[in-house]
Amino acid sequence: MIRVYKLHATLIKTGQHQNPHFLRSFFLTCSDYPATARYAAAVLLHLPTPPDPFSYNTIIKHVSPTGAISLFSHMHRNSVPFDHYTFPLILKHHHHHLLHSLIFKLGFDTNIFVQNALIHAYGSRGSLDVAVKLFGEMRRRDIVSWSTLISCLVNNNLPAEALSVFQQMQMGHPDIRNLLDRAIMLSVISAVSSLGVIELGIWVHSFIVRMRIVMTVPLGTALINMYSRCGSIARSVRVFDEMPVRNVVTWTAMINGLAVHGRSREALKVFDEMKESGLKPDGALFIGVLVACSHGGLVEDGWQVFESMRDEFGIEPMLEHYGCMVDLLGRAGLILEAFDFVEEMPLKPNSVIWRTLLGACVNHNHLALAEKARERVIELDPHHDGDYVLLSNAYGGVGNWGGKAGLRNSMRQNRIVKKPGLSFIHIDQVVHEFISGDHVHPQWEEITKFLASIIDTVKLGGYTPNTSSVLHDIQVEEKEHCVGYHSEKLAVAFVLLYHRDRRTIRVIKNLRICYDCHDFMKHISGIFDRDIIIRDQNRFHHFSKGSCSCQDFW
Ligand SMILES: [Zn+2]
Ligand SMILES: [Zn+2]
Repeated sequence: MIRVYKLHATLIKTGQHQNPHFLRSFFLTCSDYPATARYAAAVLLHLPTPPDPFSYNTIIKHVSPTGAISLFSHMHRNSVPFDHYTFPLILKHHHHHLLHSLIFKLGFDTNIFVQNALIHAYGSRGSLDVAVKLFGEMRRRDIVSWSTLISCLVNNNLPAEALSVFQQMQMGHPDIRNLLDRAIMLSVISAVSSLGVIELGIWVHSFIVRMRIVMTVPLGTALINMYSRCGSIARSVRVFDEMPVRNVVTWTAMINGLAVHGRSREALKVFDEMKESGLKPDGALFIGVLVACSHGGLVEDGWQVFESMRDEFGIEPMLEHYGCMVDLLGRAGLILEAFDFVEEMPLKPNSVIWRTLLGACVNHNHLALAEKARERVIELDPHHDGDYVLLSNAYGGVGNWGGKAGLRNSMRQNRIVKKPGLSFIHIDQVVHEFISGDHVHPQWEEITKFLASIIDTVKLGGYTPNTSSVLHDIQVEEKEHCVGYHSEKLAVAFVLLYHRDRRTIRVIKNLRICYDCHDFMKHISGIFDRDIIIRDQNRFHHFSKGSCSCQDFW
């Protein structure tokens, strides 16, 4: 800063403070830090004659968004011509139809830098339709244009559309190999991860190999995540093993993957290997390790890992880590210990921690403690549907319908709507969507009829419908009917009915799988001898030969 003052003082003393040539280099010197860029902006705004576009761009690039827009309007008021660098810089922070029409009026709308910046600006701020339209109107596109549109689609949660744009890109560019970059592949991998379709995962991986794209650490790490999200932890492990260089994020991805797939012991082994490798774990990695312990019911190991954070690595546990411990103790049924843990923790527990505890109380039928936990949750977070559903399940579980009715009323008063259960399956490049209790699927009638018949079959094999997770207080037969039509059951029935080959049934579900569906899937996997993989909100369940990889810990 002092250097900049001195330089400016020298310019003034020598009478060069309005010389365009000296000003250019002065502004360039100022652009290193936000504070000096702000000073430069003040100097610029007080010049009797405005400088050239280059000087403006230099400063616009380094000041705050508001600073940038005031420099931009100063340019406009003083008729300083914009160039094709100016708009992308401004569009990074601001986008407004007035700005867009100005770009159009000045003829910059055909400039590829400006077009790409506009696509990014519209696409990343919720006007995706405009971004797509602009992209469609481009006469020439470069890798940035494609990459920008693809990443906007991914960020707007439209993974299938992102992949189809990627395919279009390949068709439009015979020289694709020279065009591809890491950024675009990371977007594509992220699209495949959210779709969770293993066939696409294998395709994108072999594409990377075929195109000889260098397997950098972020790319390898993204593949580990992707395979895990697509339900193939074996492939994640293979990618991990083949990576010559790994960073903490890579190890974290591997541990998280093993954790959600119920391979807790292996996750702990990988954690040990990482410590041996000399890398220092960070807070995010510890979350993965603690989740692994929690999913595997490894209470002793969990305590050890938690205590080693501070003792061995000097990392102060954060709320998330405390949350993992509450989850671990709660799942293992150590409800009183979990309560003590929360009451004694040095940080103020948030609603997530109380909700975790509430869930544990419900699962282990500790109604009095559940009520206590619920009061805390409501204090902290009054509008959340999950707690009502949870507690309602608890009342239902022990047959306290009076408590349940009161709860339903307060849900209605607070306008809390239960999220509908959705399940997806992907067969022969078609995605089928099933909604709990909904009749939208074209083959709904056949599917439900078939489902009823297989429910009867598995009942013979020892399955008893468990209705405690039904929200409404209705007659028993009706309740049976309701859980009977949970979306994942519909999805599995659909596959069993129409796709009788031996391939693994893969379902993606938006909520946590209920106890009844879980039990049902175990029976189906045994009786029909089909492997079923369900990705629910929290983790993966691999059902095979009558049991689940989570060992009923979930
Ligand atoms: Zn269910
Ligand atoms: Zn399971």
